[in-house]
Amino acid sequence: MDDCIFCRIAAGKAAARLVFTDDDMVAFHDVNPQAPAHVLVIPRRHVASLSAARPGDRELLGALLLGCARVAAELGLDAGYRVVTNTGPAAGQSVAHLHFHVLGRRALGWPPG
Ligand code: AMP
Repeated sequence: MDDCIFCRIAAGKAAARLVFTDDDMVAFHDVNPQAPAHVLVIPRRHVASLSAARPGDRELLGALLLGCARVAAELGLDAGYRVVTNTGPAAGQSVAHLHFHVLGRRALGWPPG
């Protein structure tokens, strides 16, 4: 989808500061970080949100979570980190392409805002 910024990043048509890529996903630094470490993990294929995922996406979803753990390992987030996927407007989803936020290197409050 050419009008989707994350599809454009996945296709290499828009710039991003990459952490890693593989056949299924791209991990890159958030342009507006909410923590000293803030990386997004996205599927290459356009999936609008977690709610748009289907049973056939089971393997992809597992791979994406493992990708989040890989980000944490590569960034050395040994003290802990948080994985978040905002889903829908009330949760603050601003980009309609499934993404997991990996946040770390600061204390993260609970409950989240
Ligand atoms: P959300 O609000 O949960 O949908 O998260 C979308 C995230 O994407 C926000 O944290 C934005 O800062 C981030 N973002 C939007 N455009 C870009 C971009 N071109 N490169 C990196 N991060 C982006």
